Order: sequence, then structure tokens, then C-alpha cells
Amino acid sequence: MLRIVNPATGTLIQGVPCDSADSIREKFKKAADAHPGWAKVRLEERLGIIAEFRRLIAGETDRLAAILTSEVGKPIRQSRNEVIGTLIRIDYFVEAVGEVLQEEVVSSGKVEERISMEPLGVVANISAWNYPFFIGSNVFLPALLTGNCILYKPSEYATLTGLEIAALLHRAGIPNDVFLPICGGGEVGSELLKHPFQGIFFTGSYATGLAIAKASAAHLPRLQLELGGKDPVYVCDDVSLPAAVREVADGAFYNTGQSCCSVERVYVHQRIFDSFVEEFVKEVRGFVVGDPSEEKTYIGPLTRPAHVVFLEEQVADAVSKGAKALCGGKRMARPGNYFEPTVLVDVDHTMRVMREETFGPVIGIQSVTDDNEATERMNDTVYGLTAGVYTRNAERAKEILRNVRAGSVYWNCCDRVNPRLPWSGRGHSGVGCTLSKYGILQFLQTKAWHLRTAD
Ligand code: NDP
Repeated sequence: MLRIVNPATGTLIQGVPCDSADSIREKFKKAADAHPGWAKVRLEERLGIIAEFRRLIAGETDRLAAILTSEVGKPIRQSRNEVIGTLIRIDYFVEAVGEVLQEEVVSSGKVEERISMEPLGVVANISAWNYPFFIGSNVFLPALLTGNCILYKPSEYATLTGLEIAALLHRAGIPNDVFLPICGGGEVGSELLKHPFQGIFFTGSYATGLAIAKASAAHLPRLQLELGGKDPVYVCDDVSLPAAVREVADGAFYNTGQSCCSVERVYVHQRIFDSFVEEFVKEVRGFVVGDPSEEKTYIGPLTRPAHVVFLEEQVADAVSKGAKALCGGKRMARPGNYFEPTVLVDVDHTMRVMREETFGPVIGIQSVTDDNEATERMNDTVYGLTAGVYTRNAERAKEILRNVRAGSVYWNCCDRVNPRLPWSGRGHSGVGCTLSKYGILQFLQTKAWHLRTAD
């Protein structure tokens, strides 16, 4: 039995039965049996079901946001943003999928040559808890629209939301055996991987991604891993300070710093370092930390209790090597998994906080002498999800961003995702991509047709 606990209070919300090896085997078989029929369903029909799913979500925004907040601790306004943002993703996929599925005639000579697209088959969607609507829908929407069946394992920390998503899809008309939720923790996830999925679509940490790649290798699935990051932002010496401070602080602390594309390292040109840091600390001190169900709250608890200890250790490591906490630095004396919003200076790359994914309300700010040093430091990471530059000078920004190793790059913005653009990582940030037409293609395989009329 999974114990679903409210991270803001530590109290039990409810228990949910876990899947077993037997139930997973049965669900995999159901999905495999259902796949040929689902693959033949006309696109218009699938689009109609997803339009109904959209209507259901739009009608239940507040209830869905409240459930999300109760189990992951996301501040309620941010939960609502996520639920509403999902409607925009649905709109994109609905608009784009038809073109991606179009057959292509590449030659119409004596032998007609065509390319068509087929679904992969039965795919696993193993998802993180930090944006269950976004990262779930990045996978299950294009997967369903392109004719795949899905075994969907939400994180144990977002189980109630995962079950709501499944119930809404079923109410909208997705057959029960086409989309099957799987409940449980990591061990249930490992059990899933024993089955010969044609695709495994995972969002989570590098460590788990690596374990999944190894465990599933024998079945040769299409493997997509959307993993962590250590995303840098560089603030040049020509910026408008208030805007840069406000946006970078929001990029670092939104969702209590628990976004894959949270700003995790800040480099500031030495000419404006002191004034940037002064304003940044003021901004962070102004964040309302508290009960995530209250509208005014901007920073809530961490979702996982163990992560409080992880952050304590990262901060202690930095301080022992010479870093200074200008605000925060420790867990909060209240029930729930609260950690003070923390700003560290005098940091360098010998410290864990500048190398390991932090995934919480802690940020290190380092001074750099020029754009070359900034670029070098931004690239000094095993990750490569996003990177941003703040400057008034477009050419300067583009030059830096061309040389930065990351799947998404930002000029005068950060922590931003748009469904029309591909979402991908470099290095330990993962393989494959979601969103955009390239993200839809991940759920398809090509078929080459050589068609010659008999002589
Ligand atoms: P985890 O890697 O801990 O877990 C991700 C999922 O994998 C969960 O459903 C988890 O189950 C499951 N799982 C754990 N162990 C196994 C296993 N051995 N086999 C199969 N499944 C397993 O990540 P988190 O959920 O803590 O998410 C945070 C991470 O996700 C961060 O690194 C973040 O950067 C990354 N992320 C990346 C995104 C991107 O787009 N690149 C987007 C969002 C997050 P359970 O939770 O029940 O243990």
C-alpha cells in the first residue's frame, strides 16, 4: 500500500494499493491485445476523445490543482498554472499531429516510393512528480494520438494526480486497456521494465534513467530519457538590473526550485556582481513561504522528505569550502519538508552546489570576469538541459548561446517551455526529445513502401 502524505504537514492523505508483478503482467497483456484495434482507430476519433479530455480538465481546474497541491506541496497558484498550461499543450498536439502522420510520396516513377508512419505499440510512461500534468501529457498525448497503448506509472509522490489523469482520459473515451495506470514506487517501476515495451519514455533523475537504460536494454525499446539539469544563467554587465533580478530569482525558486529547468547556477559579470546580489537577496527575502494551499504562497515544502537532508548536506559542503549564505541555509522549524530559500555567494566549482542538481530553493551566485569565463563555467557540467543569458546585446547573447552545450537556450528569459519547440538535453540531461513535431515523431516508426504495378 502506498502512503500518500501531505508534504506541507506530514499527515497521511490516504493509502493507495500498489500494483504487483501479476497485475503488471496482466495490464501489459491487456494493452498488447488492445493495440491492433487502437492503432486502426481513425485520427479524427482520437482527436475527438482528446478534445473531450481537454473539456473535462478545463471544467475541473480548481479540483485538480487542489489535489496536486495536497500531494506534492506545489503552491496552489502554480498548480493552477500547470493544469491550465496543459490545455495549451493539448491544443498544440491536436493541431500538429495530423501533419506528422501524413504519408509522404518521395518518388512516383515506375516504382512508387512512399513513407508512412506507424505507432510503436505498447509504451511505458514513467514519470516524475514535479510537473505530473506537463511531463505526463508530453508523453501520453502524442502517444495516444499516434495510436500507441500506454502503461503509465506516475511517481509515487504524484499518484493521486496520476489516477485523476487516468480517470479523465477514460471518461473522455480512451478505452481502459489503451491507457492503464500503474501505482507504486521505484520497485514497481523496475518490475514494469521486465516487459517487452516497444518504447520507454522516462522523466526523472540521471541515476534512475541510467538504471532504466540498462534494465530495458535486452528488449531494444525506443528509449527516451528526460533527465535532470544544472542549468546556468549568465547576467552580463549591461542589463536592466530589476528585470534580470526578478526573472532569474523566479527561474531559480519557482516550484520551490523543483523544476528540471530551474536556474541552478548564476554567473554575474564582476562589474555588476555586488549590486545584482544585493537586489537578488532582497527579492528572495520577499518570497512568501508557507502553506501551499494559500493563494499568497510562493514557496512551499519540498515534495520528498529525504530531500531536506540532501539540501542541508549540499549547503554544509559549500560553507565548509568557503561559501557564505546571505539568506536561508537550513530547514525550517515547522511541520512538513520546508527548507529556507537560500542564496550562496563565494561559491566555486569544487562545491557540490555548483555541480550536482540541487532541485530545491538553494542557489549559488558566482562572479565572472568576462563572457569567455562565463561560457566556460556554464559548460563545466555533465548536464545540458537549458542555459540563459541576460544582456541588451542580441549579438553578444547569440555568440554565447551558440557556444553553450544545452538543448534549450534563452536570451533574456529562463525556465521556459513552449510546446512548439523541442525539449531535449545534452549529456546527463538525457536522450530523445518531447514536444514539437520532433517530440511527436518519437512515438512513431517509419515504414518504407516500394510499389510497382505488375507489368
Ligand atoms: P526519479 O528518477 O527518482 O523517479 C522518476 C520516476 O522513476 C518515478 O516514477 C519513480 O518512481 C520511477 N523509478 C524510480 N526508480 C525506478 C527504477 N529502478 N525503475 C523504474 N522506475 C523507477 O526522479 P524524480 O521523480 O525524483 O524527479 C526528479 C528528477 O526528474 C530531477 O532530476 C529532474 O530534473 C528530472 N526531471 C526532468 C525533466 C526533463 O524534462 N528533463 C522534467 C521533470 C523532472 P517513484 O517516484 O515512485 O519512486
